[in-house]
Amino acid sequence: MKAKRERAWQLYQVLLATYPDADCELNYADAFQLLIATVLSAQSTDKGVNLVTPPLFAHYPTAAALAVADPEIVEQIIKATGFFRQKTRSIIGIAQLLAAHYQGQVPHTVAELVKLPGVGRKTANVVLGHAFGVPGITSDTHVLRLSMRLGLTRETDPLKVETDLNALFPEAEWTKVSDVLIWHGRRCCFARRAACEVCVVAELCPSFESGRD
Ligand code: SF4
Repeated sequence: MKAKRERAWQLYQVLLATYPDADCELNYADAFQLLIATVLSAQSTDKGVNLVTPPLFAHYPTAAALAVADPEIVEQIIKATGFFRQKTRSIIGIAQLLAAHYQGQVPHTVAELVKLPGVGRKTANVVLGHAFGVPGITSDTHVLRLSMRLGLTRETDPLKVETDLNALFPEAEWTKVSDVLIWHGRRCCFARRAACEVCVVAELCPSFESGRD
Protein backbone atom coordinates (compact mmCIF):
# COMPACT_ATOMS: atom_id res chain seq x y z
CA MET A 1 0.00 0.00 0.00
CA LYS A 2 2.89 2.35 0.83
CA ALA A 3 4.42 1.92 -2.64
CA LYS A 4 1.02 2.40 -4.26
CA ARG A 5 0.45 5.56 -2.25
CA GLU A 6 3.86 6.90 -3.25
CA ARG A 7 3.23 6.21 -6.92
CA ALA A 8 -0.22 7.79 -6.66
CA TRP A 9 1.29 10.88 -5.07
CA GLN A 10 3.96 11.09 -7.79
CA LEU A 11 1.31 10.80 -10.50
CA TYR A 12 -0.74 13.46 -8.80
CA GLN A 13 2.20 15.86 -8.56
CA VAL A 14 2.94 15.52 -12.27
CA LEU A 15 -0.72 16.08 -13.17
CA LEU A 16 -0.92 19.07 -10.80
CA ALA A 17 2.13 20.62 -12.43
CA THR A 18 0.65 19.96 -15.87
CA TYR A 19 -2.81 21.33 -15.03
CA PRO A 20 -2.23 23.96 -12.32
CA ASP A 21 -5.57 25.59 -13.17
CA ALA A 22 -7.58 22.35 -13.09
CA ASP A 23 -11.02 23.18 -11.76
CA CYS A 24 -14.67 22.51 -12.42
CA GLU A 25 -15.34 23.60 -16.02
CA LEU A 26 -18.96 24.54 -15.46
CA ASN A 27 -19.69 28.27 -15.17
CA TYR A 28 -21.51 29.28 -11.99
CA ALA A 29 -21.83 32.20 -9.61
CA ASP A 30 -22.86 30.37 -6.42
CA ALA A 31 -23.61 26.95 -4.94
CA PHE A 32 -27.19 26.95 -6.25
CA GLN A 33 -26.05 27.59 -9.83
CA LEU A 34 -23.32 24.95 -9.54
CA LEU A 35 -25.81 22.39 -8.26
CA ILE A 36 -28.23 23.05 -11.11
CA ALA A 37 -25.44 23.14 -13.74
CA THR A 38 -24.03 19.84 -12.47
CA VAL A 39 -27.43 18.15 -12.71
CA LEU A 40 -27.74 19.47 -16.28
CA SER A 41 -24.28 18.11 -17.15
CA ALA A 42 -25.43 14.46 -16.94
CA GLN A 43 -25.10 12.94 -20.44
CA SER A 44 -23.98 16.34 -21.73
CA THR A 45 -20.78 18.34 -22.07
CA ASP A 46 -19.80 21.18 -19.74
CA LYS A 47 -19.53 23.38 -22.84
CA GLY A 48 -23.14 22.60 -23.77
CA VAL A 49 -24.33 23.29 -20.23
CA ASN A 50 -22.42 26.60 -20.16
CA LEU A 51 -24.46 27.70 -23.17
CA VAL A 52 -27.85 27.16 -21.52
CA THR A 53 -27.14 28.27 -17.95
CA PRO A 54 -26.82 32.04 -18.67
CA PRO A 55 -30.40 32.33 -19.97
CA LEU A 56 -31.64 29.84 -17.35
CA PHE A 57 -30.19 31.82 -14.43
CA ALA A 58 -31.22 35.13 -16.00
CA HIS A 59 -34.83 33.88 -15.86
CA TYR A 60 -34.49 32.04 -12.55
CA PRO A 61 -31.64 33.44 -10.45
CA THR A 62 -32.71 31.80 -7.17
CA ALA A 63 -34.25 28.59 -5.87
CA ALA A 64 -37.43 30.53 -5.07
CA ALA A 65 -37.73 31.71 -8.68
CA LEU A 66 -36.98 28.29 -10.22
CA ALA A 67 -39.36 26.57 -7.78
CA VAL A 68 -42.36 28.28 -9.43
CA ALA A 69 -41.08 28.15 -13.01
CA ASP A 70 -43.26 27.02 -15.90
CA PRO A 71 -41.75 23.62 -16.86
CA GLU A 72 -42.40 24.22 -20.56
CA ILE A 73 -40.26 27.36 -20.55
CA VAL A 74 -37.49 25.61 -18.61
CA GLU A 75 -37.60 22.70 -21.06
CA GLN A 76 -37.10 25.06 -23.98
CA ILE A 77 -34.14 26.77 -22.33
CA ILE A 78 -32.26 23.57 -21.39
CA LYS A 79 -33.35 21.42 -24.35
CA ALA A 80 -29.89 21.25 -25.97
CA THR A 81 -28.42 19.43 -22.93
CA GLY A 82 -30.55 16.33 -23.64
CA PHE A 83 -32.97 14.43 -21.39
CA PHE A 84 -34.54 17.84 -20.94
CA ARG A 85 -37.91 16.71 -19.56
CA GLN A 86 -36.33 14.65 -16.81
CA LYS A 87 -33.78 17.36 -16.09
CA THR A 88 -36.52 20.00 -15.92
CA ARG A 89 -38.39 17.88 -13.38
CA SER A 90 -35.20 17.43 -11.37
CA ILE A 91 -34.08 21.06 -11.26
CA ILE A 92 -37.54 22.44 -10.48
CA GLY A 93 -37.90 19.70 -7.84
CA ILE A 94 -34.53 20.65 -6.34
CA ALA A 95 -35.50 24.31 -6.26
CA GLN A 96 -38.82 23.49 -4.56
CA LEU A 97 -37.10 21.43 -1.84
CA LEU A 98 -34.41 24.07 -1.29
CA ALA A 99 -37.04 26.79 -1.04
CA ALA A 100 -39.24 24.73 1.29
CA HIS A 101 -36.61 23.24 3.64
CA TYR A 102 -33.33 25.16 3.34
CA GLN A 103 -34.38 28.82 2.93
CA GLY A 104 -33.32 28.52 -0.69
CA GLN A 105 -29.75 27.59 0.25
CA VAL A 106 -27.80 24.49 -0.81
CA PRO A 107 -27.13 22.07 2.08
CA HIS A 108 -23.52 21.25 2.98
CA THR A 109 -23.60 17.47 3.37
CA VAL A 110 -23.66 14.53 0.97
CA ALA A 111 -26.49 12.96 3.00
CA GLU A 112 -28.76 15.97 2.45
CA LEU A 113 -27.73 16.61 -1.15
CA VAL A 114 -28.42 13.06 -2.36
CA LYS A 115 -32.01 13.38 -1.17
CA LEU A 116 -32.58 16.04 -3.85
CA PRO A 117 -34.02 14.80 -7.19
CA GLY A 118 -31.40 13.96 -9.81
CA VAL A 119 -28.54 14.34 -7.32
CA GLY A 120 -26.17 11.44 -6.63
CA ARG A 121 -22.84 11.28 -4.78
CA LYS A 122 -20.97 12.44 -7.87
CA THR A 123 -22.98 15.66 -8.12
CA ALA A 124 -22.91 16.13 -4.35
CA ASN A 125 -19.10 15.91 -4.28
CA VAL A 126 -18.75 18.35 -7.19
CA VAL A 127 -20.86 20.90 -5.31
CA LEU A 128 -19.32 20.33 -1.89
CA GLY A 129 -15.78 20.42 -3.25
CA HIS A 130 -16.09 23.48 -5.44
CA ALA A 131 -18.71 25.63 -3.74
CA PHE A 132 -17.99 24.84 -0.07
CA GLY A 133 -14.40 23.56 0.02
CA VAL A 134 -15.49 20.19 1.46
CA PRO A 135 -13.09 17.66 -0.14
CA GLY A 136 -14.56 14.78 -2.12
CA ILE A 137 -13.71 12.41 -4.97
CA THR A 138 -15.98 12.84 -7.98
CA SER A 139 -16.31 9.37 -9.51
CA ASP A 140 -17.34 10.50 -12.97
CA THR A 141 -16.60 8.67 -16.20
CA HIS A 142 -13.08 10.17 -16.49
CA VAL A 143 -12.13 9.46 -12.89
CA LEU A 144 -13.36 5.87 -13.23
CA ARG A 145 -11.46 5.29 -16.48
CA LEU A 146 -8.21 6.95 -15.40
CA SER A 147 -8.16 5.39 -11.95
CA MET A 148 -8.35 1.97 -13.59
CA ARG A 149 -5.76 2.71 -16.29
CA LEU A 150 -3.36 4.29 -13.80
CA GLY A 151 -3.66 1.26 -11.51
CA LEU A 152 -5.19 3.22 -8.63
CA THR A 153 -8.11 0.81 -8.36
CA ARG A 154 -9.40 -2.48 -9.71
CA GLU A 155 -12.97 -1.50 -9.01
CA THR A 156 -15.55 -0.25 -11.48
CA ASP A 157 -18.29 0.68 -9.04
CA PRO A 158 -18.14 4.47 -8.46
CA LEU A 159 -18.48 4.22 -4.67
CA LYS A 160 -15.71 1.60 -4.44
CA VAL A 161 -13.44 3.68 -6.67
CA GLU A 162 -14.14 6.69 -4.45
CA THR A 163 -13.21 4.61 -1.39
CA ASP A 164 -9.97 3.41 -3.03
CA LEU A 165 -8.94 6.96 -3.99
CA ASN A 166 -9.88 8.24 -0.54
CA ALA A 167 -7.39 5.74 0.91
CA LEU A 168 -4.61 6.72 -1.50
CA PHE A 169 -4.70 10.51 -1.16
CA PRO A 170 -4.86 12.91 1.80
CA GLU A 171 -8.40 14.16 2.37
CA ALA A 172 -7.50 17.78 1.63
CA GLU A 173 -6.54 16.77 -1.93
CA TRP A 174 -9.64 14.78 -2.90
CA THR A 175 -11.35 17.49 -4.93
CA LYS A 176 -8.13 18.49 -6.71
CA VAL A 177 -7.29 14.84 -7.43
CA SER A 178 -10.65 14.53 -9.17
CA ASP A 179 -10.12 17.76 -11.10
CA VAL A 180 -6.70 16.81 -12.48
CA LEU A 181 -7.86 13.29 -13.41
CA ILE A 182 -10.86 14.77 -15.23
CA TRP A 183 -8.67 17.30 -17.04
CA HIS A 184 -6.20 14.60 -18.07
CA GLY A 185 -9.09 12.43 -19.25
CA ARG A 186 -10.45 15.27 -21.36
CA ARG A 187 -7.12 16.37 -22.80
CA CYS A 188 -4.99 13.22 -23.18
CA CYS A 189 -6.23 9.91 -21.73
CA PHE A 190 -9.29 9.81 -23.98
CA ALA A 191 -11.80 6.98 -23.70
CA ARG A 192 -11.40 5.68 -27.25
CA ARG A 193 -7.81 6.52 -28.05
CA ALA A 194 -5.56 7.49 -25.20
CA ALA A 195 -2.71 9.73 -26.40
CA CYS A 196 -0.05 7.69 -24.54
CA GLU A 197 2.72 8.93 -26.82
CA VAL A 198 2.41 12.46 -25.40
CA CYS A 199 1.22 11.59 -21.90
CA VAL A 200 3.03 13.29 -19.02
CA VAL A 201 2.51 10.32 -16.68
CA ALA A 202 3.36 7.61 -19.23
CA GLU A 203 6.37 6.44 -17.22
CA LEU A 204 4.21 5.90 -14.15
CA CYS A 205 1.27 4.30 -15.97
CA PRO A 206 0.81 0.51 -16.08
CA SER A 207 -1.52 0.92 -19.08
CA PHE A 208 0.94 2.80 -21.30
CA GLU A 209 0.03 2.03 -24.92
CA SER A 210 -2.71 -0.34 -23.83
CA GLY A 211 -5.01 2.33 -22.46
CA ARG A 212 -7.17 2.16 -25.53
CA ASP A 213 -10.60 0.64 -25.26
S1 SF4 B 1 -0.03 6.46 -20.48
FE1 SF4 B 1 -1.86 6.29 -21.77
S2 SF4 B 1 -3.31 5.07 -20.56
FE2 SF4 B 1 -1.73 5.83 -19.15
S3 SF4 B 1 -2.57 7.76 -18.34
FE3 SF4 B 1 -1.29 8.26 -20.08
S4 SF4 B 1 -2.70 8.37 -21.82
FE4 SF4 B 1 -3.75 7.25 -20.16
